Amino acid sequence: MSVWRDLRGSSLRPTDEGREVTVSGWVATRRDHGGLVFVDLRDHTGKVQLVINPVHSSSAAETAHEIRNEFVLQATGDVVARTPELVNPNLPTGQIEVQVDELTILSRSTPLPFQLDEEGVEETLRLRYRWLDLRTERMQRNLRLNHTAISAIRRVMDERGFVDVWTPSMTRGTPEGARDFLTPVRLQPGKFYALAQSPQLFKQLCMVGGIDRYYQIATCWRDEDLRADRQFEFRQLDLEMAFVEREDVLDVMEACVVGAFEAAGVEPPQRPFPRLTYADAMLRYGSDKPDLRFGMEIQDATEVTRNSEFGVFKNAPCVRYVVVPRTFSRSEQTRLEEVAKEWGAKGLANLTQISKFLSERELQTFGVGEGSTALFVADEEAVVARVLGLLRLHLAHELDLIDASLDVFHWVTDFPLFEHSEEYGGWTFMHHPFTATVPGEEERIEADPAHVRGQHYDLIWNGWELGSGSIRIHQAEVQQAVFRVMGMGEEEQRDKFGFLLEALQMGAPPHGGFAMGIDRFIALLAREPDIRQVTAFPKIASGADPLTGAPTPYPDESLRELGLRLLDPQPE
Ligand code: ASP
Repeated sequence: MSVWRDLRGSSLRPTDEGREVTVSGWVATRRDHGGLVFVDLRDHTGKVQLVINPVHSSSAAETAHEIRNEFVLQATGDVVARTPELVNPNLPTGQIEVQVDELTILSRSTPLPFQLDEEGVEETLRLRYRWLDLRTERMQRNLRLNHTAISAIRRVMDERGFVDVWTPSMTRGTPEGARDFLTPVRLQPGKFYALAQSPQLFKQLCMVGGIDRYYQIATCWRDEDLRADRQFEFRQLDLEMAFVEREDVLDVMEACVVGAFEAAGVEPPQRPFPRLTYADAMLRYGSDKPDLRFGMEIQDATEVTRNSEFGVFKNAPCVRYVVVPRTFSRSEQTRLEEVAKEWGAKGLANLTQISKFLSERELQTFGVGEGSTALFVADEEAVVARVLGLLRLHLAHELDLIDASLDVFHWVTDFPLFEHSEEYGGWTFMHHPFTATVPGEEERIEADPAHVRGQHYDLIWNGWELGSGSIRIHQAEVQQAVFRVMGMGEEEQRDKFGFLLEALQMGAPPHGGFAMGIDRFIALLAREPDIRQVTAFPKIASGADPLTGAPTPYPDESLRELGLRLLDPQPE
């Protein structure tokens, strides 16, 4: 009889009865029935039951008494049918078991900080002992899904002639809107590399370099506060294409999404994905990444209320409202108003409270049916959009209006090229400074920065921004105009981006690309609430890694070697 090695015990079936097998794995449970020991041996695909009977093998029985959960075992024995009362119809291996002749403990385990099947284990503890947590069904499923989706994306890239090019992590600061992580350089004390916030400029240089289809599953580093959808380091599907228009880029991205869904065995979204312009998204949903799984669209009432007797509406630059399919008690309404004020609104008006000030025409326009409530915000347009956008989302969650089984993908297009920065008191980029204008709007870059539109597009899934891309500027003069609007003089341009400007002057083809946050994508595909659940070794909100204890202080000598000295004494 052949002995199977490299065998997953969980793959054994009744047809294997009579075979001698050798199986290995972790002890999920051990039950001692007075001499007879049952072990559920686990690998990542499932479990198989081992029976250790002293009558059958006294040495195996002796070993079996030492076994504890999470010991690693190797067992050799015959596959036998379970007695009818021991058959477990819920397990694929539930009709058989392995009657053990030889049992080896390959590795032991100290008592566990938590049991693998325990519910609600505190996350920091899970991360501190991540090697245990990775053995759970949830983490096994998520990491393997991660791999499946990335493999599918690589296949799509391959089929379409993309070339995987590795670009440096240590580089100059890349402006993606976050702070840089810095790396001191021992050979050049006092100087720093920044860890790439994205390979943006390198991929553009690949285009100039004649690699007309570039991609990479690129690790990016951004020093931002950690959140459900954000870690310091994350991966993105980063791609760039030469001689293309927006449609070509969107087409490739949709193919990647659909390919990953299909590989994961999940019903893919219909192509082409719907589109919204930025202006429309802000008007109707008060957000540039609206969740379209539910309606409750924002309505504009600025014109209708222009001559209103209600002073607040009459004098406000913008009046908009949402109709909520619910009525609210007085205290609920007060609570909602408080929340709206936290978001920056001056107030939140309910139609019934203000109806006495409104004309019949105004009331009719709002068309609020029985059992519904219209909630109004009047203010500057940006405030109204933001508050109603947040309110729409807040109420959809509170009132359970979102059908969680839906997967709604859509594009947001035609973003403004610039936005006004409160912080700098000037213009800054909306996407990044390398985004081209809508064709024909180049002249407006300097003449009308408030209104020039960029060829920038975002991909949204159920209200999560999966990624962004754009058609890029490929003429040095246009690039310089953008830098000037951002307040960058000739010298600063040359210092920071001289290499780009030079490259753009040496035969740069028209090009455009995209980057999609892979971890966000997988988290949503895995139906997980945050990206930590699909990341093997993530960090926690404080920025620490509970597993290794990093970040750690470094001794003064090491810092001196790098040309560094700490201002404050090192914290304990
Ligand atoms: N570099 C951009 C980002 O990381 C993506 C792109 O424009 O391709 O968001």
